[in-house]
Amino acid sequence: MLYDDFYIKSLIQTVEDWPKKGISFRDITPIFSDPKGLRMVVDAYIHRYIDSNISHIACIDARGFLIASILAYELQKPLILVRKKGKLPGATISQKYALEYGEAELEIQEGAVKDGDEVLLFDDLIATGGTLTAAISLLQSQGANITEVAAIIDLPDLKGSQLISDLLIPVYSLCAFEGE
Ligand code: AMP
Repeated sequence: MLYDDFYIKSLIQTVEDWPKKGISFRDITPIFSDPKGLRMVVDAYIHRYIDSNISHIACIDARGFLIASILAYELQKPLILVRKKGKLPGATISQKYALEYGEAELEIQEGAVKDGDEVLLFDDLIATGGTLTAAISLLQSQGANITEVAAIIDLPDLKGSQLISDLLIPVYSLCAFEGE
């Protein structure tokens, strides 16, 4: 094993009933206050993708940006920001998706990816998979292939990682919290 998932899990702070009652929020902030933990997380992905055929790394607003920008630097790949509506300047392409209450929208800049690009898509956490599947649709609509989805945390009981696997896209996460 190239990383210690027990150690990584110890750096994820669970905040109960935040941002609303009934949610166990998995806070990755302590990873960034622990240089050894940050290196362990980053190195796990570097080892996995150093010899892969990915051409781009895409990451989701906003916590996904933190790790993915280090990966883009280390793996020397272009970084694509998938942002919440209204954050990216210039011409954009957008994709709406359903939230528990209401809907949200993700955007990329026009021309960010093209036919034949092999994209590693990164976010901090997979819950229901709604956010990631919207980002997948957005990138695929521009001709990109999603080589793999990577996250730090999977919440398997919410079935997001299953939803993505059902699209025949591999999913890689460093740790999982069962039972929610
Ligand atoms: P989903 O679209 O349901 O898979 O939710 C994934 C997105 O919401 C990710 O960008 C996460 O940052 C955030 N998120 C959802 N649930 C949690 C949670 N329990 N703890 C921390 N972040 C979460």
